[in-house]
Amino acid sequence: MILKPAVACSTLVASLLSLPAAADASFERCIGELRSEAQTRGVNVDTFDVLTRTLEPDRSVLGLLDYQPEFRTPIWDYLAGLVDDERIADGRAMMEQWAATLQKVEAQYGIDREMIVAVWGVESNFGRNFGKRPLLTSLSTLSCYGRRQSFFRGEFFATLRIIENGDVDAARLTGSWAGAFGHTQFMPSTFARVAVDFDGDGRRDLIDSIPDALASTANFLAKAGWVSGQPWGHEVMLPAGFDLSLAGRHNKRSLAEWARLGVQRIDGVPLEPSSTAAAVLLPAGEGGPTFLVQRNFDALYAYNTAETYALAIAHLSDRLRGGGPFVKPWPTDDPGLSRAERREVQALLTRLGYPVGEIDGLIGKTSREAIQDIQRTNGLEPDGRAGRYMLNVLRRLAGTAQGEGS
Ligand code: CA
Repeated sequence: MILKPAVACSTLVASLLSLPAAADASFERCIGELRSEAQTRGVNVDTFDVLTRTLEPDRSVLGLLDYQPEFRTPIWDYLAGLVDDERIADGRAMMEQWAATLQKVEAQYGIDREMIVAVWGVESNFGRNFGKRPLLTSLSTLSCYGRRQSFFRGEFFATLRIIENGDVDAARLTGSWAGAFGHTQFMPSTFARVAVDFDGDGRRDLIDSIPDALASTANFLAKAGWVSGQPWGHEVMLPAGFDLSLAGRHNKRSLAEWARLGVQRIDGVPLEPSSTAAAVLLPAGEGGPTFLVQRNFDALYAYNTAETYALAIAHLSDRLRGGGPFVKPWPTDDPGLSRAERREVQALLTRLGYPVGEIDGLIGKTSREAIQDIQRTNGLEPDGRAGRYMLNVLRRLAGTAQGEGS
């Protein structure tokens, strides 16, 4: 923006110059307040000053803090994107490339390599998605505004300690809007609790050291109560007339008791008649795949506090071990799409005159609105969802449906 000399009278200039400072006075006040806490939070005041001197708030994170999705993603869409052929192939390649490290990690922490690699794949797509937001910016903003300031202050100071300790450079510390970072997408306080230096260079680096990241993931699961040698759980069948009030992750009974109640593994292997605690999960209700989950599923749940994510990690680990897809289909006639198919949706939308930006396999707002528009034009329910049915509609509309057996 150009300010013409004619209008640049001194009062106008003064008021314009004072604008940014005035706008951020509340932030500066807040940083001053945080500074007074630095010492008791284990951060040197000089470090604090150096690292906060040029900080400016990024208020876009506050919108994400209060974001209520208007679009509820069905579990089969999550699973189809998180556990697809691409991620299974990538995971197997990573297991080969990092075999020696994984063997050592497995021996030291008692977590099997397929599970560690599955966490890595779901959390950061094997290091491809770290998140691009500078941690200090996001976390200082969330420390000063919004409804969870006291929580985020803890994370902000934990971030300053990571930098002060020399574990990771400030410039490398980018992550999600909430501050999860690196291969394992740990929050800074989780880093403080469980990150380990596994490559022995004296730094716990979850961004530029894959051995540190893999071992830290294993250490997280070990500390979350992982029981070595036990499975996360199994897909099961419930007997006719099963009392559904017995389901739920917190309703634990012994495997022996579940067997007595008629619960059977879907692969036909008898349930071990032991006192091992397990719970029945019906993530899509009675009509979908059903699982009997054990203690290790709770450890996975601790990673992300979402049963969907825990199930994605658990299932990906089974697939990496050579297991197949769930036996019982999801209760839908319009299944979810892999990331390759989502990219095809985006490419088809673009070809049909709806520019949806980067073809990245992430179906965002623009893609959903384009799909809604096409659905309306074609007399379909405008739910904006990119599923199997819509992919076939788009293929037909774009004239690429040849040889599809239609
Ligand atoms: Ca290290």
